[in-house]
Amino acid sequence: MNGSVSPKQFVLDEETHSSSSDTASLIDRRGTEHDAGADEPVRYPPGVLSEEEKALPRRQNHLAVRIPTRQEVLDARTRPKQRPRRLGIVVPGLLALLGFAFLSTWVLSLGTQFGDQHRIQVILMISDGMGPASETMARSFVQYLASTNSSSSNFKRSLLNESSWTDLEDSYRGKGSMGGMLPLDEILVGSSRTRSSNSLITDSAAGATAFSCGVKTYNGAIGVTPSLQPCGTVLEAAKRQGYMTGLVATSRITHATPASFYAHVPDRDLESEIAEFLVGEDGSALKGLRVDFAFGGGKCFFLPNGTDGSCRTDGKDMLGAAKAKGVRVVDGMTALRAYKDEDSVDEPVLGLFASDHMEYEADRQRITALADEQPSLKEMATHALRYLSRKAKDNKGFFLMIEGSRIDMAAHNNDPVGHLSDMLAYQQTVQYVKEWVDAQNEQGTPTMLISVSDHETGGLALGRQLGEAYPEYLWYPDALVNATHSSSYLGSLFASRYPAATRDWVISELFEKGLGIVDAAEWEVDAVWKMRQDAYGANRALADAISRRAQLGWSTAGHSGVDVNLYAYGYNSTGLTGNVENTDIGLHIAENMRLNLDVVTIELGKGQSSWFDAKAGNETTRTRTTGLGHYHGDF
Ligand SMILES: [Zn+2]
Repeated sequence: MNGSVSPKQFVLDEETHSSSSDTASLIDRRGTEHDAGADEPVRYPPGVLSEEEKALPRRQNHLAVRIPTRQEVLDARTRPKQRPRRLGIVVPGLLALLGFAFLSTWVLSLGTQFGDQHRIQVILMISDGMGPASETMARSFVQYLASTNSSSSNFKRSLLNESSWTDLEDSYRGKGSMGGMLPLDEILVGSSRTRSSNSLITDSAAGATAFSCGVKTYNGAIGVTPSLQPCGTVLEAAKRQGYMTGLVATSRITHATPASFYAHVPDRDLESEIAEFLVGEDGSALKGLRVDFAFGGGKCFFLPNGTDGSCRTDGKDMLGAAKAKGVRVVDGMTALRAYKDEDSVDEPVLGLFASDHMEYEADRQRITALADEQPSLKEMATHALRYLSRKAKDNKGFFLMIEGSRIDMAAHNNDPVGHLSDMLAYQQTVQYVKEWVDAQNEQGTPTMLISVSDHETGGLALGRQLGEAYPEYLWYPDALVNATHSSSYLGSLFASRYPAATRDWVISELFEKGLGIVDAAEWEVDAVWKMRQDAYGANRALADAISRRAQLGWSTAGHSGVDVNLYAYGYNSTGLTGNVENTDIGLHIAENMRLNLDVVTIELGKGQSSWFDAKAGNETTRTRTTGLGHYHGDF
């Protein structure tokens, strides 16, 4: 893609689209923002909208009937039950119940009523923990490499391997020191607010639940509302209405972000339980096998307690259970090499490529042991798109979530190397997906890409005052050029060499070869040396050494509350612009796929008693609140 060519922007007919939306509640909630786009010029790309219009249902009078909003449905179900004492209460009560039953049945029928008339492919990419400063950091790094004299050799030896740079070539080749655009830069459409229901700083669970359910919830909540009710997700609704569904993540597949699309637990740490949601449980309305394609890490939560490499809290064999349900399990890289996308046309696929989280991209590319090899984010995304688009051929389309999970984790370590490496791997994947989206839209299959972060991590600042003196206005991308590994990898490597590793080894292997630092000060070596039995401590000391050289500042090892960039491309990419709430992104997906989330919420509620335990979760979860915290004099 040439950066100067504006991306294809397909705009739906506003009036027709609004009137044919699944639920009045969606129209109610989004009406104002939705109408804002009505004055925009409407373009009809050849071969797409004409087909699309034919498929659109006609305006139907019964849409005038008001459907309860999701919140009203939830409130109705959580209201304390009172025993009726008089006929005067019983009769209206029964009538109300009948009315509710009628409405529920009618709402339930909507999902299938519009079910077969719509075809769309939606790819939601999530760059976990990548704030606006991070996007600038990655761009400036690439521009720096492009501006140096021997740029091709610079790219070959910098951070990632040559094939990564080849994929990103359009971003920098011939663009000089200021002209380069990363694949995401070309498709910026706005920003997303990130706060959760109980804090101005969200965690990944509440952040992803905003995308999946379209509701604000408390930090730690996986697919449940602040009142602990399971909420229907876009993935579940998509599956129910005949779409294919997929998830790709570089974290454990049971980690907060992917989990929020298929699981419902009050606390993100209940990962053994979350794995059961992914595989599904016979006869459970709550736990169904709803993900057709899942690739990521986290095999340990699928192995029974007591076996090698298990981190489950019980003896359930989730891989065995998955196989018994006809799921094709792709266990590791050797199995992936033998796996052919076309072989698994009729079976769900679960691919697990690490016991825990997968490696940072820079570390992954330098793995030498065959048994430890892992696919890249782009490779996993490639398999997902092939599988879902082939399987969805005679179907309605698909919903796919792709997460660059560890952009966040490197920022938690305040490690610019891991952060940059995974942002570039993410951008590389975005470039691939954009080209795929182009091809699909050109063939007449409406295909939409949205990319967004759930929050910022690290409080990253491109500029850092190192001493008392007034600072120069500078930060130095070149300080990162010769790094080869994340600080997390180097910290673990150091701990694994205890007690053999010497101070000289620390200088040559960690500082010089690992971070490209050839001028380590005595006190910096000391700071790492004293952490020789503490992988995390060494990790943080090394991360600080390279951050100071680049003059990158970090304000926290946690998240921050800043708005994050919002990107969209392809079909109806102008439908989501400006400064939006994170919940709007989930609702936008539901609207475009004509998903009925309320139906799923009602169905999930039926199975709730079989699993829900109000005592589950940690203290924070049990004392959750919908209000914001306030200052307690702690500073
Ligand atoms: Zn996150």
